[in-house]
Parts: sequence; C-alpha cells; structure tokens
Amino acid sequence: MKKLWKNNTILTILLTVIFISITAQATQAYDKLSISQYNGSYTYICDVDYDGVTKVIITYESYITSGKSWFLVPKNFTKYTLTIVSGSITHEEVKRAYTSEGEEFTFYDNFTFTYIGNPNFQLKLNYTMDNGALIVEPQCFFYSPQIYFNPSDTGIAYIYLPGESKVSGGNIQPPPTSITSEGGKQKITIKLQTNSARIAIEYTTSKPGNFKTYKEGIFEVTTPERYMGIAENIIKTYKTFYNNLTKIFNVNLTSVKVVFFAPRMVDLGTGGYTPFNGTHLGNIYLNLLYTRTAQGFWEQIAIHELIHHFAWAAGISPNILWLHEGLAEYLSINLTLSMGWIGASSRMQTLEEVAKQLNGNYGFVQWWNPMQTPSNVLDYYAASYMIVKTIVEENGGISFLQKLFREINGETISDTDTLIHYMNMAAGRDLTLKFISFGFKLTGESEIYRMIVEAKYALMKKSWAQPFAFIANWLLNTSINMLSSGNTMLATVIGWMGIFISMLAVTLTVALWGGILMLLTRRMRDEDEL
Ligand SMILES: [Zn+2]
Repeated sequence: MKKLWKNNTILTILLTVIFISITAQATQAYDKLSISQYNGSYTYICDVDYDGVTKVIITYESYITSGKSWFLVPKNFTKYTLTIVSGSITHEEVKRAYTSEGEEFTFYDNFTFTYIGNPNFQLKLNYTMDNGALIVEPQCFFYSPQIYFNPSDTGIAYIYLPGESKVSGGNIQPPPTSITSEGGKQKITIKLQTNSARIAIEYTTSKPGNFKTYKEGIFEVTTPERYMGIAENIIKTYKTFYNNLTKIFNVNLTSVKVVFFAPRMVDLGTGGYTPFNGTHLGNIYLNLLYTRTAQGFWEQIAIHELIHHFAWAAGISPNILWLHEGLAEYLSINLTLSMGWIGASSRMQTLEEVAKQLNGNYGFVQWWNPMQTPSNVLDYYAASYMIVKTIVEENGGISFLQKLFREINGETISDTDTLIHYMNMAAGRDLTLKFISFGFKLTGESEIYRMIVEAKYALMKKSWAQPFAFIANWLLNTSINMLSSGNTMLATVIGWMGIFISMLAVTLTVALWGGILMLLTRRMRDEDEL
C-alpha cells in the first residue's frame, strides 16, 4: 500500500548524509595536492556481516616528524581498542565532541593526540557496532558511524558488504569512488571530500530472513529474529503508556500490529508511518534506523503512531489530519519526556522552532489530508502541534482531552466545524474565535472538503480509469488549494466538477476506449473489404 501518512522526523540526520559532490576537476586537484597539503590520513574500514554487525577499524598514518590531530571515538555505545603501531604519542586527551555548529555529539567523544613519527606514525583504533547495517530481508541499509577528524588531515573509507549483497552506485552517499569485489565481499571505496561524513548505503540481500512475530496481549511485532530485543522493548513501552492513553481517549484498542522496516534512501527521514486507505487504518511501520538514537527518540516515534490508532478508535477521521498529527506529536512528546527519556526533546525543539517562523498563522493545516504530502510538511506538523498544545493548555490540560473524548463518545468526527462544536462543550466556552485567529475558515466549507476527500479515496480504487481519473484528481487538488487560499466560490465549483468526473470516471473511460476500439475494428474491417 502507498505510504499515505508519514511521520517526518528530524531532518538533521538526513542532512548529514546528503553530501555535496565535488566536480571531477576538483577531485583531481585534491589528489595532486594531497601529499603536501595534509599532515596525515585517516582510513575507515567497515566490515559488515549478515546481521549488520560491523567491525570498524580506523587507522591514522602520518609521515611528518611530529604533529597533532583529533578524531571521533565511540562514547558509550561500544568499547574500543587503541594500538600504536609505529612512533609514539606524547600527549592524549578524550573530551566532549561538538559539531561545527557547536552542538554536542550524543554518541561520540573527541580523541585529541600529539605524536612523534619514528620514522612514521601509525595508530589503529577498532570497535564493533551492533547495528551498523539495519537488515529486514531483502532490504538493507548501512549507516556508518559519524566520521569527523582534524581538517588538516585527509580521509578514505572502505565498506565491505557480504557477497550476497546487491548495491548500485546511485544508492551510496557520498558517491563512491569504486565498487569492486574482494575476498568474496563487495568493496565500496569512498575518497572523503571533507573531514566530516556519514556514509549511507541502501542495498538488498538474496539471503532469506528469519522472521518472527512477538505477541503479548493486543500487541504484535513482526521482525527478523535479530531484533527480538527491540521488539520486546516496543511492547514494553506500549504497555507502559497504554492505560494513560485509554483514560485520555476513553477507548480500548483490540489489536496493535507493528512491522519493522529497514529504510531506503527516500524514506531515511521517515521515522514511522501508519497507512490509511479511506476506510481502514493499517499496521504501524517503524524505521529501525531510529533505534540508533538517544533514548526517547525512537520511543516518541512509536508512541506517535500508537496515538493515531487511539484517535481513530475514538472516532477522529484522519481527514482532520491536523488533529491526528497534533495529538500524536503533543502527547507522544509529553509522555516520553515524562519518563525522563530526553531523546524526545529534539523533536519538540524542531517543532517549536519551525512553528516560530509561522507567527501564529496555522490555519493552512485545515485542508491537510492523508493523501497530501506537501514539500514543507514539517510546517504542517509544527502548526498542528502548536494548535493542539495551545488549545489543550489553555483549557485545563489533559483533562480537557478526557472531556472532549467523553463528549465525542465514539461519534465519527470528520470535519473541523463538528470538531470545534465538541471542543466548545469540553472547554465550556466558545473556541470559534481562537480558531479564526489561527487562520481557520469556519463558514461551512467543511461539507465540500469532506466530499472532495471522499472522491479522492474513491479515485485511488479507479486509478486505471485514465485519463479521467487524472483529470478528476487534478481538479480536486486544485479545489483544495483554492480552499486553502480562501477562494471558496471557485473552489466549490471546481470541486464539484472534480467530484462529478470522478463519479463517472469508469463509465467515461469504458465509453472512450470502447469507442476508439470500435472505430479501429471498423477501419480494419473496411480495410479487409478493400
Ligand atoms: Zn503521524
């Protein structure tokens, strides 16, 4: 099923991966200069096995008589061994490590050292990374440890993948210098163009996976057996918050199914998602890459997705996507932080910083639906979060939500007007002006919006009926855009045209292609007769 509904998480991870490729000319110039320009060189070797376990060897080598350098070493996720192969170290220090923007690394320290070459200097550091690659057969994703070293040095990386792996140059960041095979393994060479990098490789394996389903009560997680521990932890996390959530939403869930996935390059920034097809809310999909984050980060993503299931069970249609996402973000962040798991605070900071730029104009989320992923989707998450946060906190906190869901009492709520009616009852006052101040339009456009969204879901099942499905979809999207910009009259006219064509799409298609076929056969028959 199409991923209709994404939880876009911190883009910084994505941004560190996206590497600006330098032109061939610049590479040549760098090669010629390298001997004289740099003090020494770092070599990163990552040897990945079938389970994604990665042996990392970092070597530093210098041919100058004495010098100073630094690089990142693991802080807390694994132990490392340091060996001096040649020459000696006169001073060494392990200290906190910071990015070039001054942000502290959570998982790495800075190892700074002064050395003497005799005649050269060579140092070797090695460690093992349990989830260097995330593997949900056949999909695999390698994500290197953070590479960062003294800018006076140069660097090269070699990644070895198991022989059964299939990889293409287009799915490697930064772009590889070469892909060869060595000792039955795939060897990827990357000459590093800067002193900071994360190597990301999307690949597949022909080795079959050993999939297991872990079940406890209503919760079920499907995963390769190697992530059994992570699956058990997710169930434990869900059980921790379940009672709290049933009290808020005034509803119980009957079954929650979770599926783990290894990301592709395109969904690197997607922490998790829950598909919705118009009538049914699907399984919860969680991106295993985010298990490699501070505690609270992955849990917040998992709880966010669970809240979609609660909101759905409580009667909230995903067509009021701003309410779904706002509740999912606001409650998951607060619940996670209440456990002292600070990893969720980075999501909160991102949302609040993005929201600041919006200056309180949040109304554009009113027509956001699961079939729409705008390019500035983070603005939509931030606005939705701020609306829910403001309304909840100005009206008595969590008890406001409890009252709201008691009032709704399982009724289906699929438009903002009806929702505000229930919110007014829960708050004991009229919130209409508050929503108008956010920029919402509350003058009866809900009906046409609801019909447009329904027509769009219906079209998903008739996507073969071309070109009419395309035309109808285009009209419906144009109508939603016009609703967002306040052009209600024209939006309604175009919306009705789109709904009309979508209803007739199948008939029109059969008539059109049937007609063409008939014309062709008649012509062929005519030709036969001649
Ligand atoms: Zn969501």
